[in-house]
Amino acid sequence: MRLDNWICEKIGVNDELNRDNLEKYQLNALNDLIKYVKENSSFYRELYKNLDEINSLEELYKIPIINKEDIIQNGNKMVCVNQSEISRIVSLDTSGTMGKYKRIYFTEEDQKLTVDFFIQGLSFLVKKDDVMMVMLPFERENSVGDLIKQSLEIMQVNPVLSGSLSSFKKTVDLMINNNVNSIVGMPVEILALGRYIQKENLPIKIKSILLSADMVNDTFIEEIKKVYNCEVFNHFGMTEIGLGGAVDCEYHDGMHIRENDLLMEIVNPVTKENMNEGKSGEIVITTLTRKAMPLIRYATGDITSFVKEECSCNSVLKKLDKIKYRIDDRAHIGKNLYININSTDDLLFTLDNLINYKIGVDKSDSYYELKLQLAFFEEEKNVLYSNDEGLKRKIKDLLLSNPRIKKSYEMGILKIYIKLIYTDEYLNLYKGKRKINSV
Ligand SMILES: [Zn+2]
Repeated sequence: MRLDNWICEKIGVNDELNRDNLEKYQLNALNDLIKYVKENSSFYRELYKNLDEINSLEELYKIPIINKEDIIQNGNKMVCVNQSEISRIVSLDTSGTMGKYKRIYFTEEDQKLTVDFFIQGLSFLVKKDDVMMVMLPFERENSVGDLIKQSLEIMQVNPVLSGSLSSFKKTVDLMINNNVNSIVGMPVEILALGRYIQKENLPIKIKSILLSADMVNDTFIEEIKKVYNCEVFNHFGMTEIGLGGAVDCEYHDGMHIRENDLLMEIVNPVTKENMNEGKSGEIVITTLTRKAMPLIRYATGDITSFVKEECSCNSVLKKLDKIKYRIDDRAHIGKNLYININSTDDLLFTLDNLINYKIGVDKSDSYYELKLQLAFFEEEKNVLYSNDEGLKRKIKDLLLSNPRIKKSYEMGILKIYIKLIYTDEYLNLYKGKRKINSV
């Protein structure tokens, strides 16, 4: 109920939070926002020339949906404040198109709202005098790592800034020297680090982990729990929505949405029609409180569903399931057959000594080539009966347990190439987001 109490305070509800008072607040905030953007943004003024306000949240469909193309083309026209009020601009690389960026603008106030939410989310994991390692970029002021640091300092938790993982040895030294007992970072890096700690039998005891900044699936969560033997929390966020979006409570049955700042819908990815609660579709988000660059009904390209069941924590906040895949992360391996990195992560990270891997699909005239590069700890060579051929066969069997890969392979249109790398240092095989590279 921590988040509910916080939201009550934020939105000025004196009784307990319930769906009625929360949705009434959201509707008012949305109508105020429509007025605000029409006054301050030429993009929205044009887009909403026939729209004044909506009478209920059931009428959301009357508001046009926007997407990343709109941000690329017209992002600067979405900005509602003077240049002098902008405290941070984030340029996000857009997949595939060289030189095209999504630029996202924030005021100081916008970022304070994120820190407020981070404090609430982090409170599930750490308390005063704990030591949390931040394995996310922190160098720039108000970057994600920096905002987490600011939040931890307010909570009187000691932040240890390690940034993205580059060296196991340096990172574990940092952990031991600072008595780190909690971590926030990307699932793939946290798992690799944990496997290293376990392999080296190091005196490190972690009590809680927050997974962020990339897709998470059950394999990651189970494997991370196994190596660290601690509680693992999941978080959903993206720069466009102000980084923080939804977070696990102590029951880990879906991520509670930051509903005071964000209105989330799940829509059919093709028709953009609203889906029934519990069905899987694309997340569409409205930022209710952002000043610099409000996004209204922004189609995120992320596919998941709401968790329908009420939470044991009694929160009334809606819950988001883990992201199933991103629309722009689908590689075709046959007619109507596609795979995404989440589906291969799910299989391959069950391999004990795997550090990281890279996957791509090339298309030639008559077949698809699935190309994988996998980095293992040197130790894999000492595993009984393990040799390159045996390990490759095992990897191939795992891949073929995916029905789509199996189908394409059995149709004779898929070739699988596997390259093995052995190392005792971390290898980052991706520039930017992990995804399947396809031609
Ligand atoms: Zn809950």
